[in-house]
Amino acid sequence: MPELPEVEIWRRRIWPTLSTATVIDVHGSSGPPLAPDLSISDLRGALIGRQCMRVDRRGKRLALQFTEAERTLVIQLGMTGRFHVESSHGPEVRFERLRLELSHGAALVYADARRIGRLSWVPHGEAFQGLGADALATESDEWSKRFTESRSPIKVALLDQERVAGVGNIYACEGLHAAGIHPKRAARTLTPAEWTHLARAIQASMQQTLSRDGAGSLLYLSAKETNVNPFVVYGRAGEPCPTCGVTICRDILGGRGTFFCPACQPEAGTVA
Ligand SMILES: [Zn+2]
Repeated sequence: MPELPEVEIWRRRIWPTLSTATVIDVHGSSGPPLAPDLSISDLRGALIGRQCMRVDRRGKRLALQFTEAERTLVIQLGMTGRFHVESSHGPEVRFERLRLELSHGAALVYADARRIGRLSWVPHGEAFQGLGADALATESDEWSKRFTESRSPIKVALLDQERVAGVGNIYACEGLHAAGIHPKRAARTLTPAEWTHLARAIQASMQQTLSRDGAGSLLYLSAKETNVNPFVVYGRAGEPCPTCGVTICRDILGGRGTFFCPACQPEAGTVA
């Protein structure tokens, strides 16, 4: 599943293609991942003859703005959403859902095997509605203020996109390990200094994924094929912690698999 860094990598990859040509045709079929109130003919009417002016991102959501368009195209990749840059009249891509043909001969294709992604066409000011500040763009000493009054364990609180947007299961696990905080610790018991440490750890882990881009496939697409796990604790239950050698544990918190080291992340302050 793409998390913030993967979505940022997509943003950077699609921009050169989108920003240098106008849309000359739109293909696809209505129904998921298109929002219920959005049809392909709506998108044809809205986008043909227009050029993408900017691709913004907050958390895991992308917002594409086109010249003189009344609304913004919002894309959430869900579990399996991804882009392809193809030649304009090339064959259909596997799981293709939307194709924007562009005046320079390329096409931007959105593909989504499980159709859990979401494409919507919303008023400009509503593109990032429901999302807190972006996890990478928020200063580390700001994070503690955004989680005041949270009643949840820290691992669950971090996934609340209305507080800080973009932290998913992987970066929550990685950040908590690097900061030495147990995932069940009550969020409200973290000191401002611990919050700063945690925010920096999450951001550093995200930056590391960003800096790995260029080698080819994105992690959520390639992990199954290559069987290489680039993370420190995520997906490593039963293996020794690289910091202390104690066996990494897996627990379920808020319905999600949670990986942590019981020695590096002591239970003091944990929710009963
Ligand atoms: Zn450890």
